[in-house]
Parts: sequence; structure tokens; C-alpha cells
Amino acid sequence: MKELTDRVRQTARKLLDGQQVDLVLGWEKGPEPFRSQPVFIREPEEAEQLVFDEFCIHNLSTFLLDYRDGQEKIGIFVKGCDSRGVVRLIEDNQFLRERLYIIGIGCPGMKDPLAAARAASGLNGTEENEGLAAKCRECMYPNPVLYDELIGDEQPPHLEGERFAQVKKLEGMSAEERWQFFSDMFSRCIRCYACRNVCVACNCRRCIFDETRPQWVGRETNLMDNIGYHVIRAMHVAGRCVECGECERVCPVGIPLMLLNRKLIKDVNELFGPYEASLKLEEEASPPLSVYRPDDPDNFL
Ligand code: SF4
Ligand code: SF4
Ligand code: SF4
Repeated sequence: MKELTDRVRQTARKLLDGQQVDLVLGWEKGPEPFRSQPVFIREPEEAEQLVFDEFCIHNLSTFLLDYRDGQEKIGIFVKGCDSRGVVRLIEDNQFLRERLYIIGIGCPGMKDPLAAARAASGLNGTEENEGLAAKCRECMYPNPVLYDELIGDEQPPHLEGERFAQVKKLEGMSAEERWQFFSDMFSRCIRCYACRNVCVACNCRRCIFDETRPQWVGRETNLMDNIGYHVIRAMHVAGRCVECGECERVCPVGIPLMLLNRKLIKDVNELFGPYEASLKLEEEASPPLSVYRPDDPDNFL
């Protein structure tokens, strides 16, 4: 990865030196060896801060939301999942393509910082813990789908096993078993909203969960309000989720949120598809649940 870090630094320096962009979003080394974190740089000499290593796991596209109302031109490094996030924002009219210079990097898969730290310390130090992060073990699109410039080699999909295997297991349960499963899962939620805040598809300026008049969902951490939160959020991102796995990655209590997201991806595929969200940027493209066709299936209404 040393070579990729060099290319990242050279590219950022070139863009800032030539005033092609006002700032660059990339990753820098964090305070611990197992952590790389997002960084925003504005000066060519700051390009030396940038890295590309096996811990650049954050999806940078969400950070563009902090700049959506500005005029600045932004250079952004993207892996496969980040690039789909960028397409999501452009399709949702949250960001202008002209304001971006996108540098794509074929992604070899990232490691989970916590698991790597544990493995190195000898605590839970299994081989599995040193492997790819959960979100990367299920990644079908590691290569950027939108870019102005590509660095590094293209990478094969990292998907291990069948994509919807867990969802099918869930579908095979009885209604009572499913209720019990989801009750156990969502009763652990502490409603920290990290999953919403990190999500590139959760880009509404006023979120329904912040509304107080009316208050659509109670704010207590009881099972029914928790389920209300998760079902509404899942429906709001249905057909728009870019499967980046960030919501599940940041959950402090380890709730397997991708299970619900993938159930909706599978349903959207079966009802309106085949469809994969944000795989390419098409003019006036709309996700399936944001358009109406008279022949849409409606037997679930
Ligand atoms: S989800 Fe895919 S593109 Fe994103 S970090 Fe993991 S392997 Fe890379
Ligand atoms: S990140 Fe986890 S604990 Fe926090 S609101 Fe989301 S599901 Fe609940
Ligand atoms: S719901 Fe999760 S996987 Fe889907 S776009 Fe949002 S953060 Fe990514």
C-alpha cells in the first residue's frame, strides 16, 4: 500500500498546487496504528498527511454533506463504497457533480480496527479477527463506479458465500420466530443515532426523528419505539441504500443492521428490479420507490 499512499499524496498535491480544487478529502493515520481517519486538507504541503492503507474503512462520501451548501470545489478519494455514496448524493440532488474531482482507488478490502487491535494484543487474537472487516467480506463492488482519475489496480469482488444467505434464513422462520429475533436485536439499541448520522442515504435536511411537532417516533429506548425507528429508517433508505455497511460498522452495541437493509434490497430487486442502487450516474435516474408506475406491484398495500 506504500505505493498507493505515494500516489494519493502526489495527486492531492497536484490538485491543490494547480488550484483545481479548494480542498481534498482523504484519510490520514489516526492516533493508534490500527486507525486511519478522514482528513480535510487545503494546502499542498498537507498532502504528506494523507495515507491509503488497510484501515481506510470510513466511507468519505457522507462528509460531503458538510459542504453541500458551499461553492468550493472538492477533491475526494473514493473506494467502491465511497463512490456509490457520491452517486447517491448527486442523484438525491444533494451535491453537484461539477463541484467534485473524484479520484478512484480499487479497494483491496479494509480491516476492522478494533478486531486488529484485539488480535495484536493477544485478546481474541484469531486469524479471522485479522482478516477483512465484516462490511468488506460482503462487498460486491470494490472498484469505484464514478471517477475522474483512477489510481491503483482493479480488484475482484470480496463477497464470501451467497449474498442473501442470512436474509433467506430469516425468511424461513415463522412469524413468531422472526418477531422474537427482531425483538432481541432491537431491544439492544440505545438510540444513539450513529447509524443514521454515518449514512450517506440519510441525507434529509430535516430528519423525521428530530421532529418534535408532531413527534413521529417516541424517543425512549423501549422496544416499540426502537422498532419504529428502525423500520422507518429502513424504509427511508429502501432502494437507495448503497450497501456500504457503515451503519452496522459504527453501531456501538453490535446490531446487525445490514440484515434489515439486505432484506429490503432483496425485496426491491424482486418487486421492481433487478436493481442495484447508485452503480452508475444517469441523468434524472430515480430509485424505484421514488417513482410511480401504474403497473407497480401493489398486493402488499
Ligand atoms: S465495502 Fe468494499 S469498497 Fe468499501 S471498504 Fe469494504 S471492500 Fe472496500
Ligand atoms: S447505531 Fe446501533 S445503538 Fe445507535 S441507534 Fe443505530 S442501531 Fe441503535
Ligand atoms: S443504510 Fe447503512 S449500508 Fe445503506 S447506505 Fe446507509 S450506512 Fe450504508
